[in-house]
Amino acid sequence: MRKKMLAANWKMNLNLQEASDLYSNFIQNLPFNESNHFVVFSPFVFLPQLSTFNSTLALGAQNFYPAEKGAFTGEISISQLKELQVSVVLIGHSERRSYFYESNEFLKQKVDSALNHNMDVVFCCGESLETRDSDKHLAFVEAQLTDSLFHVSKEDILKCSIAYEPIWAIGTGRTANSEQIEEMHKSIRNWISMKYDEETGQSIAILYGGSCNEHNASEIFSCPNVDGGLIGGASLSTEGFLQIAQELN
Ligand code: PEP
Repeated sequence: MRKKMLAANWKMNLNLQEASDLYSNFIQNLPFNESNHFVVFSPFVFLPQLSTFNSTLALGAQNFYPAEKGAFTGEISISQLKELQVSVVLIGHSERRSYFYESNEFLKQKVDSALNHNMDVVFCCGESLETRDSDKHLAFVEAQLTDSLFHVSKEDILKCSIAYEPIWAIGTGRTANSEQIEEMHKSIRNWISMKYDEETGQSIAILYGGSCNEHNASEIFSCPNVDGGLIGGASLSTEGFLQIAQELN
């Protein structure tokens, strides 16, 4: 059976006390079982504290720099993150692509750096409204995946999950509808199967992100090719995130 995953992307929110309380509430209440995986992508500065909880709730980093060490002022390496019990990294989020100019080529380097260090990856992809309106969304997302992710080996792709996040739905309160989500998720799974093989295509978790909340999660998660979600705003409250988690099964 394919694993299900629910990931919280806290972005640049919360203070240390709030982050600790939220993380602790998640640990105590999330429905952990063999097929449900939960991750919190925390701001860097809370990681030392959150790592002391030593829980099955995976700790994730929202960013890193793909070099081993050196003169990269302000940056953080994968090895440094591993010291803080981080086991998964977020790569390709649209905010990093647009505000920090992370190109497909740079994201490919990040993918390689993470996988070389045995880190799990949640790789984000998704189109702008303009691209969707001109009916180029499938080709656009396929190119994002081909340029930055699909060069990795079969063994490595199995350490990756993919989050489809249409840019026009992130933080806007507007979600893609079930047909739009299923069309993209099914296409992503087909591309993986064509590039690797059917079994690999069927094994990889494909998450939806973009204004997913406790009110729409049930409908979104009922799409056959949706294996969970990457949650921004609604992951900042215990109730919201736990209610979304209840819809995973
Ligand atoms: C995100 O930033 O990954 C995201 C999905 O945000 P939101 O849930 O707030 O749209």
